[in-house]
Amino acid sequence: MLRKTRLFTPGPTPLLPAAQFAMAAADIHHRTPEFRALYQRVLEQLKAFVGTQNDVLLMACSGTGAMEASVSNLTSPGDRVLVLSAGKFGERWVALTKAYGCNPDVIKVPYGSTFSLDEVRAALKPDTRAIFMQATETSTAVRNDVEGVAKLIKETGSEALLVVDGITGLGTTHFDIDAWGVDVIIGGSQKAVMIPPGLAYLSVSERAWAAMEHSKNPRYYFDLRRERKSAKAGESAYTPSVALIAGLGAALDYIASQAGGDLAAGRENLVNNAETIAAMMRAAVQALGLKLFAPDSPAAAVTAVLPPEGVDSGVVVKELKGRFAAVITNGQGEMKGQIFRIAHLGFFDYMDTIALIGALEHVAMHTLKLPGFTYGKALTAAQQVFADRVLTAGK
Ligand SMILES: *Cc1c(COP(=O)(O)O)cnc(C)c1O
Repeated sequence: MLRKTRLFTPGPTPLLPAAQFAMAAADIHHRTPEFRALYQRVLEQLKAFVGTQNDVLLMACSGTGAMEASVSNLTSPGDRVLVLSAGKFGERWVALTKAYGCNPDVIKVPYGSTFSLDEVRAALKPDTRAIFMQATETSTAVRNDVEGVAKLIKETGSEALLVVDGITGLGTTHFDIDAWGVDVIIGGSQKAVMIPPGLAYLSVSERAWAAMEHSKNPRYYFDLRRERKSAKAGESAYTPSVALIAGLGAALDYIASQAGGDLAAGRENLVNNAETIAAMMRAAVQALGLKLFAPDSPAAAVTAVLPPEGVDSGVVVKELKGRFAAVITNGQGEMKGQIFRIAHLGFFDYMDTIALIGALEHVAMHTLKLPGFTYGKALTAAQQVFADRVLTAGK
């Protein structure tokens, strides 16, 4: 059989062909009217994609660079901050805030679960300067309650800024950034927007801009104020990732085109797409008799699955790659061998999903030898979810 490589990984994700063409053709200098037109257009599109009236900035780095920028721009040494940590990326917030001299209070929940709002309420102190969290914790496939935390900040009259790592949340989760009062939300190019790694974007509220005037941590390349000033003139402060920006424009055009040219509607459509695929995948693996790692608050970005007792999850990763060239991911860090993860964010459709589930059935039959397995079990469960959600409910 021919084998066609397909990524089912939570970043990098599959590339949109139109974005690849746009990147290959992006032979323009960044201090020209041509680039300024592109840059301004993409920044405007990003506002619609994020769903905010706040400024959205682009940065030439991976997502972690924008995470670092939000810490260095918004905090001062000695600041009390609160980190809501549900996995590896939550742990990154802890390390980053410590690196900039903050004193983080940390709510750390076991891998596979999310924190409760009562825990957050109890940990939020009058002098908490900022809350750092993930919208979706990619390492465990958990969805955290951004809306709940945002409401809690408002309810309690807290002055804490809310900084959300939405790197796999954007494009897979419905947000109302301005109504909820999310001060910063961060996205990355290699996730739902279907282009290669190397570009981060973030929205910044007026409250966050005001806080930046008083924060004392050092910053130079990642000085958001300088980036904002340049963006107003249609430029970036330093040499931008021209090709990635052209690719991003093409990807956002595609997302809009899937909803009659309306990018906000396209974003909703992309989120519903991920939700449907995730629901299909959850139904499929459960029909195989496998257990979800995060059954209580599953993300739409990625699904994490426990292998059968006594089996290393790497076996499933290896079989899918070896036989079908389907690339999924193992657990991160100490979760390696314990779970396998399948992504749904970005450029995945019904056909990709059904094909992967079909391949997973062969792994269940021939490699895992799951008791009671017969062909069609997982596919039937997934088909039913699709029929209910899309054909009947029209999502
Ligand atoms: C991918 C990812 C990041 C960013 O990682 P980079 O390698 O710096 O792009 C951060 N947070 C989450 C939740 C992610 O999924």
